[in-house]
Amino acid sequence: MSKNPQRFTITAALPYTNGPIHIGHLAGVYVPADIYSRFLRMQGHDVAFVCGSDEHGVPITIKAKKEGVSPQDVVDKYNGIIKKSFEEFGVSFDNYSRTSGKTHHDTASAFFKKMYDDGKFIEETTRQLYDEEAGQFLADRFVTGTCPKCGNEEAYGDQCESCGTSLNATDLINPKSAITGAVPTLKNTKHWFLPLDQYEDWLKEWILKGHKADWKSNVYGQVKSWIDDGLRARAVTRDLDWGIPVPVEGGEGKVLYVWFDAPIGYISSTKEWAEREGKDWEPYWKDENTKLVHFIGKDNIVFHCIIFPVMLKAHGDYILPENVPANEFLNLEGKKLSTSRNWAVWLHEYLEDFPDQQDVLRYVLTANAPETKDNDFTWKDFQARNNNELVAIFGNFINRVIVLTNKYYNGIVPEPGEYSEVDEKTIAELKAYPSVIASSIERYRFREAQAELMNLARLGNKYLADEEPWKLVKTDEERTKTIMYVALQIASALSIISEPFLPFTSAKLKNMLNQSDINSGQTPDWDIIGTKEALIPAGHQIGKAELLFSKIEDDQIQKQLDKLEATKTANEMENKKAEPQKETATFEDFTKMDLRVGTIIEAEKMPKTKKLMVLKVDTGLDKRTVVSGIAEHFKAEDIIGKKVTVLVNLAPRKLRGVESQGMILMTENTEGKLVFVNPDEEGVQSGTTIN
Ligand SMILES: [Zn+2]
Repeated sequence: MSKNPQRFTITAALPYTNGPIHIGHLAGVYVPADIYSRFLRMQGHDVAFVCGSDEHGVPITIKAKKEGVSPQDVVDKYNGIIKKSFEEFGVSFDNYSRTSGKTHHDTASAFFKKMYDDGKFIEETTRQLYDEEAGQFLADRFVTGTCPKCGNEEAYGDQCESCGTSLNATDLINPKSAITGAVPTLKNTKHWFLPLDQYEDWLKEWILKGHKADWKSNVYGQVKSWIDDGLRARAVTRDLDWGIPVPVEGGEGKVLYVWFDAPIGYISSTKEWAEREGKDWEPYWKDENTKLVHFIGKDNIVFHCIIFPVMLKAHGDYILPENVPANEFLNLEGKKLSTSRNWAVWLHEYLEDFPDQQDVLRYVLTANAPETKDNDFTWKDFQARNNNELVAIFGNFINRVIVLTNKYYNGIVPEPGEYSEVDEKTIAELKAYPSVIASSIERYRFREAQAELMNLARLGNKYLADEEPWKLVKTDEERTKTIMYVALQIASALSIISEPFLPFTSAKLKNMLNQSDINSGQTPDWDIIGTKEALIPAGHQIGKAELLFSKIEDDQIQKQLDKLEATKTANEMENKKAEPQKETATFEDFTKMDLRVGTIIEAEKMPKTKKLMVLKVDTGLDKRTVVSGIAEHFKAEDIIGKKVTVLVNLAPRKLRGVESQGMILMTENTEGKLVFVNPDEEGVQSGTTIN
């Protein structure tokens, strides 16, 4: 064990189970939490790394209503998908739970009850919107109406998505129930509130003074502005039938607010794990020597830095988080990731297109992690980092070492001679890496830590390139052995130190080096690099070379970009609103218009214009000139012979000096390209009237 083995409880934000997870979730929360947890275990610490699905709340009930299924069906479906994605990407949770499970219901219920018994809540009766037809109170999201600020007629009871204003359901003009469409009435209802304002001074002391130096500036800044604005009591119960019933008198028909029960899910998940492992869960949440760290995205800062700590403090039995290293947001190709708009790279889809390349995504997401500001994921950068770093540096170095060792020594690690100055320096640098990387990880700087991992691969690559054993082997066999021995030590170190970042690569590399059980001793894995005389001893038999990474070609990237382009088009199509219907036209109005089938017999772009094309059209009555604004969309030679719809009795008018005697009917497709209103069926003759 390490000198100071410590107990850690690491939590990762509970994903909300109304959709699968995408790269933004992975980059913001789960990869950094996994790196941290794997690193701590490799240092010999006692770690509980827990997570689970957040399965309560109004959005799930709305989704269930929309799809005509039960809320349980919705959460069962997505819990399965999400859990599988985490497993596939090597996120090493000790336990992945669900908030709809019994352990959680019992734990959250008891937590509320104790606070209630201790008088920690304020009871208040408020007037809330009620749907008489459905016989239930309406949660904010179940009310729509006109935004008092911008006039958007589809604002929700908690927010207008058009102007971004945060609202109360009672602020809406012409409120309507989203369940039945009925006009809601106001009715009294009792709720329990957590008086955050009473904890303001304590929060100032604990966070603003106590964690000024060690919390990330983006987190500290957000917390400070919340506290500076003044805190108010928050309702911790809701009138809803999906969730954890309020376990006290008067609580019938009410559930715990999803934000009250969800973070308690960390505790329930730890309990489940401890029970399975035959351990006591309590020290992980109640012992002052345990470090509690919450990994979250920036949208959860207020809940994890203010509300949950106040709950823990008010309850009284629990420790408080040591740190909350929240990340900012990851964008995709310059745009905000969005589940509802399908603007995302979904993990399960990624693996279909890049099978067995989980580590490439983990690598790129960490290299680009939004640690201090929002950051952008682009497919070009993904390709470049894979090809120029993972393939060209890490993969190339390992491949050379394994191939040459097999070629020169039948895969047996050679006996080294005396070290040169370069060898000494290289080994000394190698031994320093674990503490350099550790210092970055301990400060939650995962990008920096991973960059150092790549620097270790660079060290190996450069060493081989400078020493050129493939040349030296012809003239100095003894020196070649020493070089290969040193290179093998670097390869072995890489197999260990890459584990938190690239767990699949690490396992593959250990297997290639025939070192899957590299450490059977008492020293933690992380420390043996600095302390062990030979990481891979002379005489050890290694295995054959396998490809660790492979080049990603342009067409693979193009395919991903095309997919996003298709999403963009689909979104535009969905958002396109049909123009309102025009004034009523009488039958007489309509028959005034003489619409005929015509055939284009000549076409020529009008010189010095961008859009205009001069057409000769056979209308069946005559052959006449029509000027049409279609030159940007069609080539002249492609439309000759085409049957079109022509308004033949439109008053003639001159366009750039050419008289147009009619109009060809056009419309446009979803991409904005003009298309003909098409009478192009076989057997339809020019001159036929359209009515
Ligand atoms: Zn608005």
